[in-house]
Amino acid sequence: LVAAERAYGVAGSTRGPARFEALVAETEADPTAGPGEIVVRNYFAGVNYIDTYFRSGLYPTQQLPATLGNEASGVVVEVGPNVTTPSVGDHVVYMASQDAYTQYAKTSAKRATKINPDLLPLDTAAAVLLQGLTAHALVTRAYPVSRGDWVLVQAGAGGTGRLLIQLCKHFGATVIATVSTEEKAQVARAAGADHVILYSHEDVPQALLKIVPEGVHAVFDGVGKATFDDGLKVLRYEGSMVSFGNSSGTVPPVNLFDIAQKNLRLMRPRLYGYLVSDEDYHRHVDEVIRLTQDRVIDVKVFKTYELADVAQAHADLEGRRSTGKLLLRIPP
Ligand code: NDP
Repeated sequence: LVAAERAYGVAGSTRGPARFEALVAETEADPTAGPGEIVVRNYFAGVNYIDTYFRSGLYPTQQLPATLGNEASGVVVEVGPNVTTPSVGDHVVYMASQDAYTQYAKTSAKRATKINPDLLPLDTAAAVLLQGLTAHALVTRAYPVSRGDWVLVQAGAGGTGRLLIQLCKHFGATVIATVSTEEKAQVARAAGADHVILYSHEDVPQALLKIVPEGVHAVFDGVGKATFDDGLKVLRYEGSMVSFGNSSGTVPPVNLFDIAQKNLRLMRPRLYGYLVSDEDYHRHVDEVIRLTQDRVIDVKVFKTYELADVAQAHADLEGRRSTGKLLLRIPP
């Protein structure tokens, strides 16, 4: 088990002291499955930027110490009353409620997706779930991308960024991506980006408007504070700003007149808001799995860390050293 301690709850910023040492292993009694629940022996857990927000205190945790992690894959070891599927021994992938960094976790049977490990191995399943759902919900519901669109994907070499590029290309858009280094530019190009701008060195509005003078139809921005204003500058009239994250810090309050200049649409969606009903949840999960098996979505694991090295995984993610997905291997 890995517990998090509330460290530096600096509202509005993830840039405070890191306190990676707050991540410590603890032993707890194994969970038991109640009605409608299953217990999963986790094999892999995904590391997501949101985990760092809960660790740093940017997003409050329920209670401390707390366990982290919002996605995992593994094998069902116990089913509770009234559960017809999955069964003991099945391979499943699921969105965890802040307890994926554990050997055994209980979850709702209804929200666990049975997978065929020959078609979707457990590591790929854990690697693609949350970021795949995010990218899929953003390009189908926040701003439905369609053929002929121009879109900007900020942090295009990141876990979610790579998948956004792939899905925007799949739906027929021309994609411009931003990244911080030349190495990351190659990752974004390999994911399908048509143009890449190094936002660490270049003036993004200037570079982007040279490529497409009318501006883009939509901006997908998970970086937040550092990129939000430039995103507004590169949108065309009636363009859509989809601000979905804060890896550089939260976006300060917006002056509505700033979006009135070009009749822009502004959204700040949360993945969970698109997955409220079981129907929506399974529709998106099934589609993400299908797209992964069809290789439209091609998840790249940057590194698989042992659970004991979770602090290093957080440090690499926040230190902008990673591309693609970070995974944790959970020991037996
Ligand atoms: P990433 O793999 O994208 O890692 C974050 C990337 O952000 C870095 O690699 C870095 O890329 C870029 N970045 C830019 N500025 C900074 C900075 N100051 N500090 C650190 N990183 C910076 O992470 P995820 O794919 O897990 O998440 C991406 C974003 O999506 C996060 O903001 C996350 O919260 C959000 N998200 C939101 C969801 C929602 O429901 N709304 C769901 C899932 C994710 P580079 O070096 O190229 O700049």
